[in-house]
Amino acid sequence: MRFVDNPEQAVLAAAKDMLRRGLVEGTAGNISARREDGNIVITPSSVDYADMALDDLVLIDADGAVLHAKDGRSPSSELHLHLACYQAFDDIGSVIHSHPVWATMFAVAHQPIPASVDEFAVYCGGDIRCAEYAASGSPDVGTNAVKALEGRAAALIANHGLVAVAPRPDKALHVTALVERTAQIVWGARALGGPVPIPDEVNKNFGAVYGYLRQNPM
Ligand SMILES: [Zn+2]
Repeated sequence: MRFVDNPEQAVLAAAKDMLRRGLVEGTAGNISARREDGNIVITPSSVDYADMALDDLVLIDADGAVLHAKDGRSPSSELHLHLACYQAFDDIGSVIHSHPVWATMFAVAHQPIPASVDEFAVYCGGDIRCAEYAASGSPDVGTNAVKALEGRAAALIANHGLVAVAPRPDKALHVTALVERTAQIVWGARALGGPVPIPDEVNKNFGAVYGYLRQNPM
């Protein structure tokens, strides 16, 4: 089972970085990391990222029961999405759920984001699929996301946003930013007549590198 060293610090640092990079606004989205003991550190609901401190983070077990939370803090309402990812993928240590604008455009249109920028598949595994629709907060959001995440570092949550998985929070944030940037590029390329696909063979090789790096994170 993959876990994160200093998970509280790593989650908080990624939360601040996510805000700084303009990938979230206010209290939207959430970040979690798996500890060595199998419990999960997750950002609280309804706390602005700018004001968030270490003791605002919530500790839950693998089933979502709250083990530790400062007065008035509760885990993100989207924790079931995080738990479903950890349960399905033993090799991840962090989950980031976000609502960045360009990626969410594809999620609203139920369109995959093609791996049409060179080396995208090295970091993400291949095209980013859109999960089947499920109402926010329902367990099906997690079930459907896990299906769409197979062999990938990210998936679109239909009519909602994005989920990224990685060995560590900084890596999951990198994936989030890369998917968002690529969504914007693909959208623009379509205005120019559409992206020209990268040869399948090349993306397959890049995807294999992704698989290796996921098992052997640097
Ligand atoms: Zn959300």
